[in-house]
Parts: sequence; structure tokens; C-alpha cells
Amino acid sequence: MKETIQIEPGAVRLLKKLNAAGYPAYVVGGCVRDSLLGLVPHDWDLCTAARPEQVMELFGEENCIPTGLQHGTVTIKENGTLYETTTFRTEGSYTDGRHPDRVEFVPDVREDLARRDFTINAMACHPEEGIIDPFGGREDLKRGIVRAVGQPHERFEEDALRILRLYRFAARFGFAIDPATGQAARELCGHLDCVSLERIEDELSRLLAAPKPGRWMEPAVFAAVLPELEINEETQRFEKSCEVIDALPAGMEDLPARLAALLAPLREKGVRKALRRLRCSNAKIEKTAVLVREMGLAPEPENLPLQARLLLGRLEPDTLRRLLLLCGAEHPEQAEAFDALEKAAERLTKEHACCRVKDLAINGRDLMEMGAAPGPGLRRMLEALLEEVITGQLPNEREALRRAAAQFSAS
Ligand code: ATP
Ligand code: MG
Repeated sequence: MKETIQIEPGAVRLLKKLNAAGYPAYVVGGCVRDSLLGLVPHDWDLCTAARPEQVMELFGEENCIPTGLQHGTVTIKENGTLYETTTFRTEGSYTDGRHPDRVEFVPDVREDLARRDFTINAMACHPEEGIIDPFGGREDLKRGIVRAVGQPHERFEEDALRILRLYRFAARFGFAIDPATGQAARELCGHLDCVSLERIEDELSRLLAAPKPGRWMEPAVFAAVLPELEINEETQRFEKSCEVIDALPAGMEDLPARLAALLAPLREKGVRKALRRLRCSNAKIEKTAVLVREMGLAPEPENLPLQARLLLGRLEPDTLRRLLLLCGAEHPEQAEAFDALEKAAERLTKEHACCRVKDLAINGRDLMEMGAAPGPGLRRMLEALLEEVITGQLPNEREALRRAAAQFSAS
């Protein structure tokens, strides 16, 4: 682990300007943690003694977005980059599960660090003062431990979302959980029911998108946020889902496959209902539900190219890719066959192979010009032509298709 960190130049400029105006200021939280781990932070958050209105005054309103003034947050635009800047504060509990009931601005960065969730997230840094680490965050990073700042019970009672965040950060970095923190999390996970569903969904997705989250999918926590799964009665099934999830790719892009693995017992309808309840986006619901609907797929090794084409006729290439990954993870004994099917589909997609009626070199208008009557018969004829093209009995060429269509009509 690194001993010092290199603060990003734009953030340094903002800190200097705040300091020159007499306000203490630091970079804080995730950017310090990630830099110490040798990772590149995705953004640099600042904290300062300056009040939001003083920040706006100093940088000019045109360079500021009033992101959450009542909580002390102003976003500063500097040279095309955004820096979220929050006034040092303490906070009360989150009765509505969304916002702290009251925040109180305070003069000292250490007080601000004390309201943060975990020691690894409760460090600040300044170009001259170096790292401010009152709770042993560096030590915990070194040992690979996520630990609550202060009394875990109190911290989870203030804001139960921190329980999900605990597993999310542990899974993201492959860290262990401090035993007292873990025990409090398991004991208090019932409190997650007063956290807003949007916040739960967001943290849950981040946890499930971690590299191999299985080890950190605490059954008690999942039972609290997804009662539909009846995890307490179906422990083995839940354990199996965790294994399947670990075998699937990480990241938000392929999250629907992991969600499908988790929610499969609910079947398509139950999946839609559960994800709607969690306020998921329609796109995410749709992508997940389709996978659950289709996951009974069996590979036909002697018939792969044809099977791949028929599947591509119904499913988008990306959906099919995820479905085959999911099926392979669910049935490791058939993983090779699913993999071969996936390769076949990939090849067909690359070749722009004809898999759908709309890919045919002939269309309904061509057939009507040849004298076919409009209506369902037309569609049936196109489908019959498609089948011959897919099975290789006909080339996807206009003339050949016209001749075949004429023969169909004559017979
Ligand atoms: P990421 O890289 O995932 O964004 P992050 O550490 O920046 O990680 P955020 O959720 O963006 O995490 O929160 C920023 C910082 O605010 C955290 O590092 C932590 O110090 C503090 N924080 C966020 N949410 C809470 C919370 N619910 N309770 C206490 N502190 C929190
Ligand atoms: Mg962040």
C-alpha cells in the first residue's frame, strides 16, 4: 500500500484557493482510499470549513452547482471537471432513510471524518498536511478490513443503509469484515426496511456487480431486502445462486445475468414484481426478466449453427450472450456446449447472417408485386423462406427467393 498520495492537480488548485481565502479544505473519502490502494479514483471529493454560500461566493455562482445546499454540498466546475465539495458537518439519524434529519456544520475536519461510515472511507488529505486518519483507516486498508467508525450498533442504527455498504465495500476490495462490525450488521439488518428503496437498489446493484460477491452475500441481509426469495427456508438454493453469481462476469453491464441467477426462483412474473418494487429501471427489469424466462434453454450440440440462428431470430445478440453465460454458469457440466453456442452466435452476428424475416433479401412488398395477397399468408410465406435460408436450403439472394416464392404460391 502507498504511504502518501498524489492529489489530482485540479483538486489541488481548489484546495489552494479555499486555503488562501482562510478556509481549511481537504480531499476526502473514496479518492484517498483508492489512491492509497494504488487505484485511480473516479472522482475527487472535497470537504471544507467554508459554508456552501461561502464556497459559491469564492468560486462564483456560474462555476457552481447547488447540489444539496441544506446538507452543505456544492459542486464546483473547474476546467471541465466536477468536484463535489461538502462543508464539514455532523449529522443526526436518517429517520426517512434518505436524508439526515439535521446536519450541523462544524469547524474541524476530524469531526466531519467521525460521521463517515467506515475507517477506510474516513480519511482526508491535504498537499502539505498529508493524510488525516484519526480512525486507523490506513491500518485497516493494509490489513484488508472494513470496520465501522465508532460503535457499529450506533452507526447502523443511525443509517441502516450502511449495512449494505459494508458488504459492498468488502466485496469490491475483497476485504474481510471486522467481527464486531459484521455482528452488528447481521443483528440490525431488519432496520433496512426503513431505508428508501432507491438507496437500497443502488447499493445492492453495486454489491452484486463486485468481482466475486458470493462470499459477501450475507443471507440475513438478502432476506431483509428480498423477502420474496424466502432465503431462510431456501438456504441451499441461495448458496447455489451465490456460486453461480461468482461464475458470471462482474460490472454493471452484465448485472442482469447475476440478478437473473439470484431471482430465478421467482420466475419471470415474480422477477418483474420484485424489481419493480425495488424501483429498478425498466431496462434493467426487462433485461433480467427475459433471461429468467429463457434460462431453461438446452444446447443442441449436433445442431449449433441452426440453434444459434433461431435464437438470434428472437433475442438481441447481447441478450443471447448473457443468456448463454448464465446457462453455462448454472450448468457447469454443459458449459462447453453453451460456450460453443455462444461462439456460433458471435460469428453469425459478425457476419450479419440472416436470422430474421427483416434480414431476408426479399420483403412483403416484393411478394405482393409478384401477385401475393396481403395478410397473414404473406407473413407465413416470408417465414417459410426464412426457414429455408436458415437451414441452408436456399441462399439469401433476391432471385432465388423470388423463384422459391413463386413455387410456394403455385403449390
Ligand atoms: P465510490 O468509489 O463507490 O463512489 P465512495 O467512498 O466515494 O466510493 P460514496 O458512496 O460516493 O462512496 O460516498 C462518499 C463518501 O461519503 C464515503 O467515502 C463516506 O466517507 C461518506 N458516506 C457516504 N455514504 C455514507 C453513509 N450512508 N454514512 C456515512 N458516510 C457515508
Ligand atoms: Mg463516490
